Amino acid sequence: MTRIHPLDRVLIAQIAAGEVIERPASALKELLENSIDAGAKHIEINLLDGGISKIEVIDDGIGIHSEDLPLALTPHATSKINHLDDLQSVSSLGFRGEALASMASVATVTIITRESHAPHGYRVQCRAGNMSEIIPAARAIGTTIVINELFSETPARRKFLKTANTEFAHCDEVVKRMALSHPEIEFRLTHQGKSLRHWPITNHLLRIKAIFGEEFMTSALSVDEFAGQASLQGWISRPTFSSSNRESQYIFINGRFVRDKLISHALRQAYQDVLHHQRFPVVVLFIECPFDLVDVNVHPAKTEVRFREPQAIHQLVFHGLSKTLDKTSPSQSSVMTATYLGNGESPVMQNRLSIDPPRFELGGIDYVTDRSLAPSMFESNVLSQQLDQVINPVQPFPLGFAIAQLHGIYVLSQSENGLIVVDMHAAHERILYEKLKLALKNQVIQKQQLLIPVTFRVDPVALNLVQENQSLLNQVGFDLTVAGPDVLALRSIPVLLAKGDLEQIARDLINELTQYGSARLLDEKHNELLSTFACHGAVRANRQLTITEMNALLRDMEHIDRTDQCNHGRPTWRHITLSEIDQWFLRGQ
Ligand code: ADP
Ligand code: MG
Repeated sequence: MTRIHPLDRVLIAQIAAGEVIERPASALKELLENSIDAGAKHIEINLLDGGISKIEVIDDGIGIHSEDLPLALTPHATSKINHLDDLQSVSSLGFRGEALASMASVATVTIITRESHAPHGYRVQCRAGNMSEIIPAARAIGTTIVINELFSETPARRKFLKTANTEFAHCDEVVKRMALSHPEIEFRLTHQGKSLRHWPITNHLLRIKAIFGEEFMTSALSVDEFAGQASLQGWISRPTFSSSNRESQYIFINGRFVRDKLISHALRQAYQDVLHHQRFPVVVLFIECPFDLVDVNVHPAKTEVRFREPQAIHQLVFHGLSKTLDKTSPSQSSVMTATYLGNGESPVMQNRLSIDPPRFELGGIDYVTDRSLAPSMFESNVLSQQLDQVINPVQPFPLGFAIAQLHGIYVLSQSENGLIVVDMHAAHERILYEKLKLALKNQVIQKQQLLIPVTFRVDPVALNLVQENQSLLNQVGFDLTVAGPDVLALRSIPVLLAKGDLEQIARDLINELTQYGSARLLDEKHNELLSTFACHGAVRANRQLTITEMNALLRDMEHIDRTDQCNHGRPTWRHITLSEIDQWFLRGQ
């Protein structure tokens, strides 16, 4: 080993650069943050070879004073904070004063800039930490920064770069994030001289639509929640519009894109009931809170943050999303959501539109008024009467009225302006699940005695467990008794499940007992079991339903929360409008 000696200035910067500048996209992120901090309204980005050969960012921000130019390229020199206290309330995106200096140590950086009262612009170039003279240059007010040959000075790092296409994809993603949180700024992006993105100045909703497309917006739900000094706003996908990776989760805190475990957890929890655990919702969420409640100085790239009150932020996100997701039943999510964007209004506004009540008859029976016809399978009981209170008064029957059953799988229904197709098993499963949850919560589980008990064999462990837990099982609506050395008899079952596969349901219950013991049955964690019950309790394919039963199913779907998707996140119904059908037949064209 050699003796200890101080490292030279450029080497220090090159080592530091490793933390901030990982690839072209991270350099681009820093440049864009600087332009935003400088109050730019129009930002143009030109890339060559995915940013490896050249990253150019042109803005119309406030510019840099010519005498400050050398400082802009000096480590730990910034115009954004002065004191330690400022760190508590930093509202700018940058503040560490190291991005430009880092880039200048691993690439060639050229700055051309002009302040508003300067007679002309100035230009400076810095290569491997060596700065050129500052010379006058032509420039409108604003700043152009060009990074040439990233990592040319540090070939080892350059080897880590991927193909130009991959690097470009990362840059594109960075621009997208900035554009999402700053609709008030115009962004243009070119690659190899080709114009690829152009997002003009607009509002949040339309910027999100421009970036994610109509398909996302028609299925998105708007979130709007406050708690104390913090607020949560944005759009989230319905569970039926999910993605197989978590890349499409855009979370911004005070305008800063972050990846945060706490928020991801709250998100997962909110969707847990309505989405399969391997699917991810698409979300764009903006959290605003006082600057001193979040520490952004945790990580050099500033994509991680620390909250002073993590629990409060978790609650804000979880509650905001849960509330919104609870609204995913047909009565609340109007069957007309597909049209709401035309006027730039939020989906919530659309739900308030008034729509004439449906008017038609089928076989002489008036299904509009006669709910008492609902028979065995989809019984109206105390619970659904409680649930009736959440009926949307404006549009009482958004799912219309049943006309037929298709292949024993789908219910077809005529709606006010088209055809509704319902996956009857999926829909019934969801309804049962929600009813079971409510029944257990309110402790109003109604039992149905079985005329003929169902008997089945079990192993001794299960037999003992059932014996030990008689009263608990009774509490949840099951009457299971020992009928022989290895035989159990099921004598009563919750009414809600009475039409299901009884033996299977009893086995689900015993399974729960053997796997998790009795504790989970009565606490908050029973949802998994209820979901299994619902699956085995729900109407099976090929069971012929009467029109009345089908209508009762539709009405339940309208009244009960979260029925737009089954317990695994698949949709339970689809709406085909008359005009879509007209198009099939080229009517009115
Ligand atoms: P930081 O943003 O953390 O202050 P940087 O190294 O990114 O550090 O930038 C150093 C300084 O250069 C900034 O504080 C700012 O004053 C100035 N600067 C950089 N880019 C721009 C720009 N596009 N417009 C105006 N000023 C800029
Ligand atoms: Mg910066």
